[in-house]
Amino acid sequence: MARATSEAVPAGRYVSQLRNLRGRTLPNLSPGWGFVLELAKWNDHSKSLQCVATTSTILGIQSPWYVERVELKLEAGEVHVHLEHENVEWQCSECGNKCALYDHQPERQWRHLDTCQYRTILHARPPRSNCSEHGPRQVRLEWAEPGSRFTMLMQAMAIEWLKHASQKAVGKQLRLSWDEIHGIMERAVSRGLKRRQAEPVARLGIDEKSTRRGQRYLTLVNDLDRSRVLYVSEDREQRSLDGFWATLTPEQLNSIQAVALDMWDAYLNSLRAHLPDADSKIVFDKFHIAQHLGEAVDEVRRKENKDLYRIGDKQLKETRFKWLKNPKNMTEKQKNSFGPLR
Ligand SMILES: [Zn+2]
Repeated sequence: MARATSEAVPAGRYVSQLRNLRGRTLPNLSPGWGFVLELAKWNDHSKSLQCVATTSTILGIQSPWYVERVELKLEAGEVHVHLEHENVEWQCSECGNKCALYDHQPERQWRHLDTCQYRTILHARPPRSNCSEHGPRQVRLEWAEPGSRFTMLMQAMAIEWLKHASQKAVGKQLRLSWDEIHGIMERAVSRGLKRRQAEPVARLGIDEKSTRRGQRYLTLVNDLDRSRVLYVSEDREQRSLDGFWATLTPEQLNSIQAVALDMWDAYLNSLRAHLPDADSKIVFDKFHIAQHLGEAVDEVRRKENKDLYRIGDKQLKETRFKWLKNPKNMTEKQKNSFGPLR
């Protein structure tokens, strides 16, 4: 498609032409339209209006891309914006080297923010760069994420609205199907995960949670600095935790300073197998240390009780809770009866 070179039509006159178009009343176009119309050409056959608009801030289109033509489909309530590009070198999406154009992919469409209640659709043929190292690669398009059918501005608006309203309400307002809304949300989540993947995780907490009265276990890994769950898996075996380490980048693995966990061999084994210098980073939290100390004290008591029993001394019998009680919390009477046992 050649760039139109017809004489410039003042934007005001163009807008009044639009307004009078076949007796239809159009919404107030001039300010809300968003981009300044430079040239216009009326095409009677296709019942559509073709025009060339300037590079526009509202579209976020920058050189080498430009708006080649705008098509207004009144019946469908749609504005179709066709994009073309200058003859330039393209960055390889793999290595970033500047390369010659290889070819174009078939034309694609992206739903953009509405223009005065008109659904606005961008059209372009994505170029492929010809990298000497990586071969033909589709170049990054500045207005959309790879594979998305929406421009980034459209996605951003949907996400913003989804913070305040239900999927159904946002879908209705933006005229998006449930699948489309869902796709936008999924993309946002995966972007969030990617960002999260790049963040350092200095302090981790590893926990087991029992489900259904202790019959099944889950292993949870938490980012203690940001109070969020990073990883969940079934059981509390070594392999339950082994899967977590692969989700970290080498930088993240090195960023780990401390891991709080209970003294559970399966977890310790996983930690020692995957985390460099694991033993210096392991922190047993207070609750679990208290639990283990309690068990150790009771074990000693039981053993001594057994030995004393053998020689007929029953003074340690049924004293378990005296040994486990914090002396600060003892009554005078308890202190007096416990004293001689020590
Ligand atoms: Zn390359």
